[in-house]
Amino acid sequence: MADKKKALKAVSQSVYSCRKCGQCGNKVTDAVPYVCPVKETTPGFDHFYSRGKIVIAQGLLEGAIEPSKELAEVVYTCTLCGNCMTQCGAIDRDTGGPLVDTVGVVEALRTDFLEEHPEWVANEYKALLTATRQYDNPWGVPRSTKEKWAKKLSLPNALRNPSETLLFVGCTVASNPALNARAVKAAEILKKAGVAFAILGKDEPCCGSVQKRIGAVRQARDMVNNNIRLLHTTGCKTIVTLCAGCANALKNDYRLGAEKLKPNVLHIVELFAQLLKEDKLNPTKKKGSKVTYHDPCHLGRHMGIYDAPRDVLNALPGIELIERSATRENTICCGAGGGMRLFESGTLAEKIGQSALESASQTGAEVLVSSCPFCEMNLQTSSKTAAGSITVYDIIDLVYEAIV
Ligand code: SF4
Ligand code: SF4
Repeated sequence: MADKKKALKAVSQSVYSCRKCGQCGNKVTDAVPYVCPVKETTPGFDHFYSRGKIVIAQGLLEGAIEPSKELAEVVYTCTLCGNCMTQCGAIDRDTGGPLVDTVGVVEALRTDFLEEHPEWVANEYKALLTATRQYDNPWGVPRSTKEKWAKKLSLPNALRNPSETLLFVGCTVASNPALNARAVKAAEILKKAGVAFAILGKDEPCCGSVQKRIGAVRQARDMVNNNIRLLHTTGCKTIVTLCAGCANALKNDYRLGAEKLKPNVLHIVELFAQLLKEDKLNPTKKKGSKVTYHDPCHLGRHMGIYDAPRDVLNALPGIELIERSATRENTICCGAGGGMRLFESGTLAEKIGQSALESASQTGAEVLVSSCPFCEMNLQTSSKTAAGSITVYDIIDLVYEAIV
């Protein structure tokens, strides 16, 4: 018989290190207007934020409560933004790092529910996993869709014409026509900077990030192993991604198994910052705008990339960068992470996005810039109903306007 609650047992140390103090839901400072975006945009009961989810995990581990459809729903009300882990006061004295892996606990709860009680997991998550099996794409579109954006650019395919740099566009940008322009602009910027690169087009696999986040750990692990083999056959030395989720997966998840990804992984903002430093990008066109930067959770809290996007924005003529109080590691989640757009048809994700936009508007900025297609997509949707007026851009748009 399969080991029950296997994933939860693996994170039991985190569960028992939690002091149930509630800081992960209630801490408020000048730099932390609120910790948990889900608590902030719901009635705020304990089960909406980390403390409650950890109490549930403990109850399940000890058999004091039984799994149920209601609990399955609760464990999917989390964007996995990680702010609770950042704000948690339980620190490992030896390492100085957090003692409670709050994100790990939620992922473990999801994994066990999907493994042991898939009938209680909402159909939207299972449909995403089926679409991935069918199309290798969580958006459920055929492989050929993923190369449409590159049709007019005559870019080399990394399997037939290897290059040291591989531009890994990611399913979200490549599959959604509204986001295709990000890939086109990124490719044109790199060409302008003299960077030789190749793409995978319809051969580009899904990175497996969203599957892992929603608890399909075994499916994600198989994807990672297959993808590592494919990426190694390209012989590339550097992989550049446009998506914060892909960057985090390729950089971190692809180094957890027996076979590890060898190429260096960069998010496009890191490459832009590097190219600017080397004078290979020359932004001259002036766009007078007050902008504030939205740190994507995957890029910021999960990967520690805070300076590169700011270096890029500060190098663009006419851009005035205004920091909001909740910035860098205290960033406010956009609402799209952790599969939240699948929960209740995205209504909670949209509310969370509205809160993020309202906080950005308070800086007096005209533009909110992010560097992740999930952030852009959710913030764009939320901006239709949010109070205040702030336009949402991806950083690629601003670099493109200053250069091309
Ligand atoms: S996760 Fe950290 S902040 Fe939250 S209740 Fe536990 S110890 Fe307190
Ligand atoms: S990861 Fe984010 S959304 Fe989830 S409980 Fe923590 S603060 Fe809330």
